[in-house]
Amino acid sequence: MDTKEKEKKPLTPAERRRREEIRQKRIKKRRQKKILRAAVLIGLALVAIAVLGGIIYGISRLAKSMGKGEAMVEAQGDNFVIALDAGHGGADTGLTNDVLEEKEVTFEIVSKLKVMLEGQGYQVVLIREDDSRISKEERAQAVNASGADLVVSVHLNYSEDPEASGVETYYKKGSAQGAMLAQKVLDAVAEEAGAAKGTASEGSFTILENTEIPAVLVEAGYASNAAEAGSLAEDIYRNNVAKGIAKGVIRCLARDKE
Ligand SMILES: [Zn+2]
Repeated sequence: MDTKEKEKKPLTPAERRRREEIRQKRIKKRRQKKILRAAVLIGLALVAIAVLGGIIYGISRLAKSMGKGEAMVEAQGDNFVIALDAGHGGADTGLTNDVLEEKEVTFEIVSKLKVMLEGQGYQVVLIREDDSRISKEERAQAVNASGADLVVSVHLNYSEDPEASGVETYYKKGSAQGAMLAQKVLDAVAEEAGAAKGTASEGSFTILENTEIPAVLVEAGYASNAAEAGSLAEDIYRNNVAKGIAKGVIRCLARDKE
């Protein structure tokens, strides 16, 4: 019996059902393969889009930072949080002479700075809120726990040379953001207060070394210089120093609208 003859033979209903079942199974399998192929294609397309998106994002960020030419400080949250550290406090008076106490000058400058920055819509955290003594390590810990985006520490300077005067700033070695912060703050304080412009240099202060955010230490002037100490004892001069620090800090903040 050849096959042709077999095909010609009328099928029994059971055979017909069986054949139909096989046909349906084949159709189903084909459909599943098509779906699988489509899913793989969609998956590949998504991966391609993600990779491309990542590349574009990376390029735009690079272009942005290159465009500004500087390592701007970014906010971690919705708003910038700025930590302010007034040097010394309590029994630790810092430098003293007949017209000033460093702990009081730094606290006053920081208090004015707080009002100015809050007035510009920024959030401020004071590391020293009153005349209490806080160790350097505790200050660094408080900064790290504050959630701040950057920290400004304020101190006064001293020199054996009574002629030495002016503002100086310090940043942590290797910190591009710290370096920019130190330079901008130095420039703005010299400009606003009319102080002699010293340098923005690397420094190994605890508030720089032990903190994890962009940081600047400002030596607002020389307590050892009679004329500058006289200025630092005055409210208007402190106000100008604070204004300079505020301006310098704000110039370092990465903002969409300038
Ligand atoms: Zn000091």
